[in-house]
Formats: sequence, structure tokens, C-alpha cells
Amino acid sequence: MQSKNKPGMSKAEREHVTRIKEMPCGVCSSPGPSEAHELRQGEWFTSIPLCADCHRGPFNGIHGQGRIWSVYKLDEQAVLNETIRQLVAA
Ligand SMILES: [Zn+2]
Ligand SMILES: [Zn+2]
Repeated sequence: MQSKNKPGMSKAEREHVTRIKEMPCGVCSSPGPSEAHELRQGEWFTSIPLCADCHRGPFNGIHGQGRIWSVYKLDEQAVLNETIRQLVAA
């Protein structure tokens, strides 16, 4: 799940994911480096930056119970929107 260079990633995808991982967590704003979470497998341009807890934490993570996502009233689409807003503004 955490492989940095999945086979088949293009140069542009790798560069994009590098930028995503430099961003703070899109849920709790914990400073980067973050992990890149794909909204859909292999679609890297819609990946979002998440800290380890908001990503994989069994209680808080999107791959777990997603509790902190509920606290912040966020879902993947909302975090993606904010991520793109920051990338465009950069
Ligand atoms: Zn977080
Ligand atoms: Zn993920």
C-alpha cells in the first residue's frame, strides 16, 4: 500500500505525488511530509495528502473507522477540493 514507485506511474504522476506528499495533512493540518491517499486506485492526480493517523490509523484513518474525518466534517472529495485549491494557488 505504501510503495513509492508503483509500476506504471508516469513521470508526471510521480512528480505530482511528490508535491502531494510535501503538503500538510488535508484533514488535521499536521505538517508534512504526508502520505498520498488515492481516492481511486491508480488515479494519482486525485490523490490527497494525509498524515499516518488520518490515513491508516485504525480509529481515525480513512482506511479505518475514519473518526477524525467525522470530527472535521470532511470527506475525500472535500479534501481533494482543498488540495487542488492549494496547488493552484502555489
Ligand atoms: Zn492528519
Ligand atoms: Zn490510502
